[in-house]
Amino acid sequence: MDLKSNEPFWLVKNGLLATYPSLPDDEKCDVLVVGGGITGSLIAHQCIEDGYKTILIDKREIANGSSSATTSMLQYEIDTPLNELIEKIGEKGAVASYKACSRSIDQLGEIARKIRSKAGFRKKDSLYFADLKKDVDDLKKEFEARKKAGFDVKWMGADEIIKKYDLHETYGGILSKQGASVDAFMLVHEILAYNQKKGLEVYDRTELTEVKYGSRNNEVTLNTGAVIRCKKIVYCVGYESASMIKEKFVDLISTYAIVSEVMPGISRRYKNILIWNTADPYIYLRTTDDDRMLIGGEDEEFRNPRKRDLLIGKKEQKLLRSFGKYLPHIPFRSDFAWAGTFGETKDGLPYIGTHKDFKNSYFVLGFGGNGITFSVTGMEMVSDWLKGKKHLLTEWFKFGR
Ligand SMILES: Cc1cc2nc3c(=O)[nH]c(=O)nc-3n(C[C@H](O)[C@H](O)[C@H](O)COP(=O)(O)OP(=O)(O)OC[C@H]3O[C@@H](n4cnc5c(N)ncnc54)[C@H](O)[C@@H]3O)c2cc1C
Repeated sequence: MDLKSNEPFWLVKNGLLATYPSLPDDEKCDVLVVGGGITGSLIAHQCIEDGYKTILIDKREIANGSSSATTSMLQYEIDTPLNELIEKIGEKGAVASYKACSRSIDQLGEIARKIRSKAGFRKKDSLYFADLKKDVDDLKKEFEARKKAGFDVKWMGADEIIKKYDLHETYGGILSKQGASVDAFMLVHEILAYNQKKGLEVYDRTELTEVKYGSRNNEVTLNTGAVIRCKKIVYCVGYESASMIKEKFVDLISTYAIVSEVMPGISRRYKNILIWNTADPYIYLRTTDDDRMLIGGEDEEFRNPRKRDLLIGKKEQKLLRSFGKYLPHIPFRSDFAWAGTFGETKDGLPYIGTHKDFKNSYFVLGFGGNGITFSVTGMEMVSDWLKGKKHLLTEWFKFGR
């Protein structure tokens, strides 16, 4: 599956951060992590911390799937607003999902500190603003739901937003004191390097092609001809899971992002804030660590990579126009434009759990605008399950829910 166009910003900026071998020989381990994106790296980190002999494989270069195209806003805010999620799945599950995403941001910050990351993890506030006047009532309902659930939120009127952020064409919004951003591509390599020193084996250009699921162990055949015998497999295969699993559980669409030239003076004013809105599809904005502005959105309801990439020029112009509408005082000169596949689920929640067709295995599939924070939650879930413990979120993140 073609997951992204050429030239996602972080892939170009960082270049080849590390190289990994492929695996030509047979191996044994406790846990085989399939997928070397942000999810796989985090799961492998947890497995090493928990003391399992762990191998991670990826059929591409490491972090060359969606994790190279991501814009890496880390939000506790799920694509489905809390008050709507409560209606869909009940208050307990909805609030627990939001709280888990909120915790994940701090947990990722702790990991970044522990591994002495240089991937620019930075805590930020998050402003979710009404794009149209008619969105205000719903947004106020959302504000009340979040306040009731105990989140640190503040309602900002349009005038206050203009005064504080010079952000125009809004009708008010929710300011949250929880959010962050990072360079996910770099972070993956850093997490793997840290864990390789603790025994993690990492192989790229190494594809799982066939599995014999046994009652206690699995036997995994690779494209290299080698076989890995393992007690458990954790599938962190991102959007490609859609072609592994029979039933439909995710809609794959296309999304776009652009990054500006470096503009230190301007971008610094926005360096502590993530901005997104109620439009459908929504628009989002952040700064990068090297003082650029980023705007993304303009989703299309199809996945076809050729069609997706042909639209990049047109989408770049549309994103530039949106930027000019909201921040007219900033001369955004585009330096990078790219497209990626994106996955949406019926409730905005991820799929993390077992699947009846895959014995001795777990899936950690963090979809939607919170893909990364959901992957962090996946660490704690997999860790509990491997120890035979239950996890509160199993019910709401499982297949067939
Ligand atoms: C433009 C864009 C913007 C986004 N913005 C955000 C955002 O702001 N915040 C956020 O949280 N999320 C965002 N996302 C989503 C986020 O990028 C994903 O949730 C995240 O990158 C998924 O990481 P992953 O490790 O699960 O998947 P990937 O990075 O795709 O990694 C999966 C890996 O599995 C490997 N694989 C698959 N099958 C096999 C096999 N059989 N054998 C071996 N290896 C295999 C693949 O090669 C791949 O490298 C965005 C996505 C895009 C495209």
